Amino acid sequence: MCQEGWLRFGQTLFEKSRDGRGSCSLPELDVEAVEPESVIPSNLLRQKPAEMPELSEPEIVRHFVGLSVTNHHVDRDLYPLGSCTMKYNPKVCEDVANLAGFVAIHPFSPPETIQGALRLMYELGQALCEITGMDDFTLAPAAGAHGEFTGMLMVRAYHEAKGNPRSKVLIPDSAHGTNPASVTIAGYRAVEIPSDSTGRIDVERLKAHLDQEVAALMVTNPNTLGFFETNIAEVADLIHGVGGLVYMDGANMNALLGISRPGDFGIDIAHLNLHKTFGTPHGGGGPGSGPLVVKKALSPFLPVPVIVKEGEKYRLEEDRPQSIGRIHGFYGNFGVMVKAYCYILLAGPEGLREIAECATINANYLLAKLRRYFEVPYDGFCKHEFVLSGKDKAAKGVKTLDIAKRLMDFGFHPPTIYFPLIVEEALMIEPTESENLETLDRFVEAMVCINEEIERDPEKVKSAPHTTPVGRVDEANAARGLDVAG
Ligand SMILES: *Cc1c(COP(=O)(O)O)cnc(C)c1O
Repeated sequence: MCQEGWLRFGQTLFEKSRDGRGSCSLPELDVEAVEPESVIPSNLLRQKPAEMPELSEPEIVRHFVGLSVTNHHVDRDLYPLGSCTMKYNPKVCEDVANLAGFVAIHPFSPPETIQGALRLMYELGQALCEITGMDDFTLAPAAGAHGEFTGMLMVRAYHEAKGNPRSKVLIPDSAHGTNPASVTIAGYRAVEIPSDSTGRIDVERLKAHLDQEVAALMVTNPNTLGFFETNIAEVADLIHGVGGLVYMDGANMNALLGISRPGDFGIDIAHLNLHKTFGTPHGGGGPGSGPLVVKKALSPFLPVPVIVKEGEKYRLEEDRPQSIGRIHGFYGNFGVMVKAYCYILLAGPEGLREIAECATINANYLLAKLRRYFEVPYDGFCKHEFVLSGKDKAAKGVKTLDIAKRLMDFGFHPPTIYFPLIVEEALMIEPTESENLETLDRFVEAMVCINEEIERDPEKVKSAPHTTPVGRVDEANAARGLDVAG
């Protein structure tokens, strides 16, 4: 009986939707209201009204504030998550992204009615081109890795248009983990290039792989050891010499803003992480935005739609015969773009440069302070982040994971650990530009204290954290045997 009721309801909806009114309009419902008792089995029906807690507003506010401070976040204290750039995300950018004129527009809105949004996106793209020294852009990719994949499809389209498809992409071993994955799913063979003893691309060993099969080099710069690839111009010349393109993973662009431009050191195509460098946190799990900036030669292959400015009007161009096609349902994550636009305008050219300078100074300050206590496998002047190793703590039975857990007792989020893969027991630390000297010194004190504990009382470190509501969880088991009911 009850099943029949639902079937009838569904059938009516279906017929209404086919009523010749086009797929976009919602059907008008003239079905009779159905009593829940007639369609829901009685054992599933509530027998008495729900008991709602009677609470005052302050009690509720305290409950949620309590929950928010039980979890660690960047508004609470330092979040030095190397590579993930958890930093100052101005609240005013959130406010701007929340303006009704931005949140109330619909992706199907006719372009004439959303000229302001299109202008914002166009001007953001122009600003990113100026910052990176490139010619053209797409804001569509929804994440850094999505930008990489889109970029590789463009590289493929570029070579195919020349009638010269190629098979491999060279990737330094200090690259971000997403790089080989994106290259592989785009159908290329990822070939690993080793780093030299200074943590830069080993140019001699790169040369051994140069031939007509090289579609591109994909280089993370600054790389995941936190170093600027000082040979990048020479490397780019070598790749161009065999007809390949140079793709830069620019997720670490916060270290270069206003100081050097990828377009000036030989890069043909790059992605940026708006949700790292430009006003949105990365660790929050999304939404994200990984725009691509490209040199003119790659413009024809950009995904559609492309934002075009004609006179004072903006439109979305779909008719691009050489385009790789559409890579996102609509046009990317607009809210993140609004925040990035706001962030760039807030900082201005001088401010952007200051961001990169402070990020670099802060990282070098921490490195200089911590070098005496922790092994630095690739030492030298770093950019926005650096990598320590906990390898020598093994003598006391302590692992990098233990150091990370113990840091939580000091009120800090742990750094990224066990990455990059070329460093054993890696601790990857990125203080970001937004932390002041007092905060950095507190972090150093915590690290020095943990180092002493490893000598004196290693058990204390191995059994950390001691102050968090949840101690060590079996992470692998938690991921595999997810218990959503509990
Ligand atoms: C974060 C990051 C990526 C990937 O970005 P997602 O938005 O997480 O996909 C790629 N490269 C580097 C260097 C990164 O730090």
